[in-house]
Amino acid sequence: MDYDDPERGTGLAARTREFVDEVVIPKERELLGDRAPTPEELAALREEAKERGIYAPQVDEEYGGLGLDLRSALPVFEAAGRSLLGPPALRVDAPDEGNIHTLEMVGTEDQKERWLPPLVEGEISSAFAMTEPPAGGGSDPKMLKTTAEKDGDEWVIDGHKWWATNGGSASVYLVMARTDMDEHPYSGTSIILVPRDADGLEVVRDIPHLGGGGMGLGHAELKLDGVRVPAENLIGAENAGFVIAQQRLGPARLTHCMRFAGLAERALDIAFAYASEREAFGDRLSDKQSLRFELARRHTDLHAARTMVRHAAREIAAGNEARIEVAASKYFTANVVQESVDTAVQVCGGAGISKDLPLADFYENVRQFRIFDGPDEVHLRSIAREFLQDPPTGELANLPRFGE
Ligand SMILES: Cc1cc2nc3c(=O)[nH]c(=O)nc-3n(C[C@H](O)[C@H](O)[C@H](O)COP(=O)(O)OP(=O)(O)OC[C@H]3O[C@@H](n4cnc5c(N)ncnc54)[C@H](O)[C@@H]3O)c2cc1C
Repeated sequence: MDYDDPERGTGLAARTREFVDEVVIPKERELLGDRAPTPEELAALREEAKERGIYAPQVDEEYGGLGLDLRSALPVFEAAGRSLLGPPALRVDAPDEGNIHTLEMVGTEDQKERWLPPLVEGEISSAFAMTEPPAGGGSDPKMLKTTAEKDGDEWVIDGHKWWATNGGSASVYLVMARTDMDEHPYSGTSIILVPRDADGLEVVRDIPHLGGGGMGLGHAELKLDGVRVPAENLIGAENAGFVIAQQRLGPARLTHCMRFAGLAERALDIAFAYASEREAFGDRLSDKQSLRFELARRHTDLHAARTMVRHAAREIAAGNEARIEVAASKYFTANVVQESVDTAVQVCGGAGISKDLPLADFYENVRQFRIFDGPDEVHLRSIAREFLQDPPTGELANLPRFGE
C-alpha cells in the first residue's frame, strides 16, 4: 500500500527496511528464540543502524536523534517493527522511546543532561511505573495508591508497583505517585524520577509471563519503602502527573500500533509466501478460495488500522490531543494485529507453530497488546463516552412510542 507519508519518513523507512532485511532478520534466529540478545549483540546492531543513518529517528537532533515528528517517523517505526529485534536496534523500542519523549517534553535541563545521552545511546534503560497490583491503580489509574510526600528538599515515596517494563534492568524509573491526597487523583499526582540505586527501592521479581521470549524484556514488580530522592527529581509541574502521562501515552500508544503493524505485515508476508508454495489436495493453498478470502480480510483490516494510525499521528503532529483517534487506533490495531498473526500461524500449519519461522514468537508477543497501555474495554469506554454523554438530540422525536 502507498500512503501519503512525508518524504523524509519514506526515505528513512526504505533504508530501515533494507537494514531489517539484510542485518536484523538474519540475526533473528540466532538472537531470538530462547535467549535474549546480550548488550554486546544489541550494541553491534545499533552501531550498524547508526552507520546507515537511521538510528533514533524520533529523538531531537540535540540528543543524537534525527528529529522526525511523529507523522514522519511513522513509516520508519513500521519498517523497524517487522522484526522484534528491529525496534531495539533503532532505539525506537518501548518503554524507553516513550520515556525519552517524556524527558524531552517536560524534563529540566539537568534531568535531560543526566539521563538523555545514555538513554538514547542505549547504554542504560528506563522504566515507567504507573500500574499497581490489584487494589491499586490498573485499568482505572485513579485508584493509584503510591504516595510521595515532601520532606524538606526531598520526596519520600512509598508504594507497590508491578508490570514496569524493563524494571529489572532499568537505571531510572519514572514513578507515578499521589502528591496531594486532598485533590482528585487527576490533579494530585506527579511523576518523579527514581534512580535504581535509591535506598528503599526493591526490585521484587521479574513477573513470569506469556511472550517476551528472546526479547529480554522483563516486566518487574517493585516496592518503594520510604525511598528518598531530591525535590528536583520531579518531572514537569507538581500534580501534573496525569496531564504528562496523557501526553506520553497518546504518542506511545500510536508508536506501539506502528511497530505492531509492521509485525503483522511481515506475518502476512510469510503467510502469503507459504500459501503460494505449499500444495495440498491437488493445488496450491493460495488457490483455495476460503484461504484467499481470509488473507484478503486480514490485509484489508491491516490497511484500515494503518490508515487510522496515520490519521491520529497527523492530529498529534499538528498539536491536537486526539484522545478518541488514539483510543480507536489502539483498540482496533491491537485486535487486527492479533488476528493477522493468528491467521499467519494457521496458514503455515506446523511451520507456524515451530520456531523455524518467527511467527510463534510474534504470536506469544502480540496478546499483551490488547491489555497494556489500556485494555480494549478502557478505550471502548472512552470512545463511547464521547458520543453517549450528550443530552438527547431530539432525533427520535417523531418515533411512535408504545402506550402513547
Ligand atoms: C506486557 C505488559 C507490559 C506492561 N508495561 C507496563 C509499564 O511499563 N508500566 C506500567 O505502569 N504498566 C504496564 N503494564 C500494565 C498495564 O498497563 C495494565 O495491565 C493495564 O492497564 C490493565 O490494568 P490491570 O492489569 O490492573 O487490569 P485490571 O484493572 O484488573 O482489569 C482487568 C480487565 O478488566 C477489564 N476491564 C477493565 N475496565 C473495564 C471496563 N470499564 N469495562 C469493562 N471491562 C473492563 C479489561 O478486560 C481488563 O483487562 C503492562 C502490562 C503488560 C501485560
